[in-house]
Amino acid sequence: MARSYVHEARKRVGPKKERICPIIERLAVEHADATIALTFRSELELLVSVMLSAQTTDVNVNRVTKRLFEKYRRPEDYLAVPPEELERDIYTTGFFRQKARSLRGTMRMLIEEFDGEVPRTLDELTRLPGVARKTANVVAAELGHAQGIVVDTHVRRLSQRLGLTRQEDPVKIERDLVKLVPRDDWARFPHLLIWHGRRVCDARRPRCEDCVVNDLCPSSRV
Ligand code: SF4
Repeated sequence: MARSYVHEARKRVGPKKERICPIIERLAVEHADATIALTFRSELELLVSVMLSAQTTDVNVNRVTKRLFEKYRRPEDYLAVPPEELERDIYTTGFFRQKARSLRGTMRMLIEEFDGEVPRTLDELTRLPGVARKTANVVAAELGHAQGIVVDTHVRRLSQRLGLTRQEDPVKIERDLVKLVPRDDWARFPHLLIWHGRRVCDARRPRCEDCVVNDLCPSSRV
């Protein structure tokens, strides 16, 4: 019964290859303000903000970095203070010991191998201590060099609901999405899903009746 319902719903909305562009276009109109919610003024600040955002909210990170970035302006500044001082300065973002260790290791590598600059490629970014694929993807996309698609909890949920993937694992979901989403949209696509997820397609109570893509969504309840 459930399976035939899903099958019917998929048939009703049509193949994902034909739906993806209208989905992106409509969400882009609906969420024209969809951008990264972290506040930063430089490439280094971007990298630090994204590293600190693991397991916490962007609002919380912005609160911490407001003061942090006044004190730490160059990679060297993160290494000039005792580790405990850096830990205290990022304490409220959680996992502060681990994050401080990652920040120090990353700053050391930036200085030693990248002339103090933030690298561009995913391969280089993921070599930085504590920088996983998701962090690297976010940074690369913001620097205008998207080389993949960021999959966070919203992107995962909405991709599944919209019938763009049947996978559970973020790496496999990303693999499906990069085959489907036009390359020019790789950077903005996750922002669109994240904002749609926050505003309309809530995890527990999706507001399908107010959703601009409900006729393109096999999970729509209207
Ligand atoms: S129709 Fe409902 S389930 Fe589908 S994307 Fe919109 S809010 Fe989410």
